[in-house]
Formats: sequence, structure tokens, C-alpha cells
Amino acid sequence: MRQGALVVISGFAGAGKGTLVKELMKRYDNYALSVSMTTRSPRPGEKEGESYFFVTKEQFEKTIEENGFIEYAQYVGNYYGTPRAYVEEQMRSGKDVILEIEIQGAHKVRKLYPDAILIFVTPPSAQILKERLTGRGTETAEVIKKRMDRAAQESEGIEDYDYIAVNDDIETCVTNVRGMIEASHFRPALNEEFISQVRADLEKMATE
Ligand code: 5GP
Repeated sequence: MRQGALVVISGFAGAGKGTLVKELMKRYDNYALSVSMTTRSPRPGEKEGESYFFVTKEQFEKTIEENGFIEYAQYVGNYYGTPRAYVEEQMRSGKDVILEIEIQGAHKVRKLYPDAILIFVTPPSAQILKERLTGRGTETAEVIKKRMDRAAQESEGIEDYDYIAVNDDIETCVTNVRGMIEASHFRPALNEEFISQVRADLEKMATE
């Protein structure tokens, strides 16, 4: 069985990454979603072990020492990290593993797994981004400002991604992202065995 791919989904807070990932998981059965660990407090409605594993700073730092993360980063004053065991196990079983992480983490994943697929999700405009962040109603004005500032910084890194997904209409966005992930399985780097076989056969035929 082929090993699953690692799919990194990043994007501005308020770009609709959460909805996108939820829809991908609902519609297709070949994806596994990695649940991150964080020191941030749960928002209303968030569930332990589903949205995140909510831990203390001490627990997080202990996991860092134990090499328990594929990557981790700080974002607006909190730690966020991708637990290693689940990701490796799911990839081995052939699932494409989705990581919904921010940009520093995405860079670390790219270094560790050069074949990872990096997708950046963005709303159609900065104005719509601000409206979505404000409309969520769960964050203070100060946090919204910090997140907008962070978005401006993050926009500098978009070119390092393989694809951008503009989330105007969620249906179109889900279809497009599905296409990006599926197409990436056909990259030569992920089909080396097949290519070697064809090449060897062609060489053999040429000398016959
Ligand atoms: P939020 O607090 O809104 O849930 O997440 C803040 C940011 O942290 C988002 O951009 C989210 O994608 C990112 N994030 C969530 N989990 C991880 C993780 O495990 N590693 C990294 N590097 N970023 C994460």
C-alpha cells in the first residue's frame, strides 16, 4: 500500500480553514485529521481531544523535550504543536494526513517532509477577512487587531506554498482543495518506483 501524504493547510485566521477541513473530512474517507496540542484556553463549544488537546505550558514543554512533536510554534502568545505519533501511524496506514497549522509550522514540515503538500487558504479580500473575524464574536478587539497584524506578516510567506485556495464560496473551495490533494499524488517524486520500472522496461526493450 502506498504511504499517505502530508497535507498542510494554513491561512489567515478567519479564512475559513476550519470549515474547509471539516467538509473534507465529512466527504472523503481517505483523510485523517491531526489534532494539535495547545496552551490556549478552549473557546466556547471547543472539545478536548477534538478541537485540540488543551494542556498547560509545563505539559507542552515536557512534550517538546520528549521529541513528541513533528513541529511546534508560538502564535499570539500561545504554543501550538503537532503530535508526532498519530501523524506517522496514519501516514503508514495509507491515509493522507491533514495538518491545520500556521506558517512557521508549515515551514518546519516542509523541511522535514519535502513531499508535503502546502495549501494556503485566503478569503477573497482583506476587507472580508476583517468582517469575518469581527463577526465571529468570540474575540476581543485587541485579539482581532493582533490577528490582523499577524495576517499581514503571514501574507509575506504565501509564495512558499504549493497552492492557494481562495475561499469565497465554500463548495468551490472544497472541490478545488480536493483536486489539489489528489493531483499531488501524481507528482514524479511520489511515483519513483513506477518511473524506475517503466524506465527499466524501456531500456530492456530498446536492446531487444
Ligand atoms: P486558533 O487559536 O485560532 O485555533 O489557532 C491559531 C493558529 O494556530 C491557526 O493559524 C492554526 O492553524 C494554528 N495551529 C493550530 N494547531 C497548530 C499546530 O499544531 N502547529 C502550528 N504550528 N500551528 C497550529
